Amino acid sequence: MKNLIENSSSIVIVSHKNPDGDAIGSSLALFNYLKKIKKQSTVILPDSFPAYYNWLCGSDGILIADKQMEKSKQEIANAELIFCLDFNDLTRLGELGPFVEKAKAVKVMIDHHQNPKDFAGFKLHRANACSTAQLIYEFIESNGHKELVDEFIGECIYTGLITDSGSFKYSSVESKTHLIAADLIDRGLNHTKVHELIFDQNNLSRLHLLGYALGKIQVLDNYPVAFMVLSSKDLKQFNFSKGDTEGLVNYCLSIKGVEVAAFLKEDAGIVKMSFRSKGIIRVNDFASKYFSGGGHINAAGGRSELPIDQAVIQFTQSIKLFLND
Ligand code: 5GP
Ligand code: MN
Repeated sequence: MKNLIENSSSIVIVSHKNPDGDAIGSSLALFNYLKKIKKQSTVILPDSFPAYYNWLCGSDGILIADKQMEKSKQEIANAELIFCLDFNDLTRLGELGPFVEKAKAVKVMIDHHQNPKDFAGFKLHRANACSTAQLIYEFIESNGHKELVDEFIGECIYTGLITDSGSFKYSSVESKTHLIAADLIDRGLNHTKVHELIFDQNNLSRLHLLGYALGKIQVLDNYPVAFMVLSSKDLKQFNFSKGDTEGLVNYCLSIKGVEVAAFLKEDAGIVKMSFRSKGIIRVNDFASKYFSGGGHINAAGGRSELPIDQAVIQFTQSIKLFLND
């Protein structure tokens, strides 16, 4: 892999639609690492990311494809090496997917989701890793370059670690995850700063949206299922901006006795769904069976093309069927 990087003169890093902290953190960690070994690269994301990640080192140079589609496609077509981070199915790239598929570049997938598709020449895949950011750290480590991890790369990796692990809470966290965090701190990371910059950036309208959404949580009779629904009208009313609904679904899961949580959001003509579960209930299977989605066992997502009211009925009926099976 070291040789592959060495011999590639144009490198692109892509990650998934609706980029989250792990998508952005792992992409920028790799970008900043490559820079350290004198390799220039371009990070391309299908669409924009929440403003509370715009302090990460290199974030100002990210190409947002839905704003700069021609340039993004050109970079992908010209690349000799494309890193695909934090996804394993090209449909997660939206409109960019087919362009990455037919690009002449060697593709390297670094990812931790279940059921990887077969589009990459090289795979660094581990479904039980807590985050792609952890895999990026391990990749740098395996190259013998741990000493190149500075405060800024550390912030990118740490962002992925905490946003994908509920701040070290989920079962995907291993002792290695904590050892990585400890090493990052030894290398200059200010972990408190990262938590504050990501989680303490609320404005009043986001908190009012939270209050409104909490008031709308419903629990299904006789099933351990809680869900909330936000229409585009609701979102408009609270001046929704990207990232404002991040984490909302977890409130549903925090209800005693609830094992499956869902959040349904009307979004550009479709209904985007987030699923979370506890224990052995596989919401990734649920998402792929009923809602053209996927993800992890306990955290997955999907979509419905139906109007929001019907999508809610579709969800409640299908989760009952799924749990009865
Ligand atoms: P979230 O609910 O935070 O948007 O996503 C939770 C998990 O499900 C993430 O790991 C994400 O990659 C995955 N996921 C969300 N939406 C989709 C989707 O439409 N398709 C697939 N395959 N995975 C998704
Ligand atoms: Mn991830």
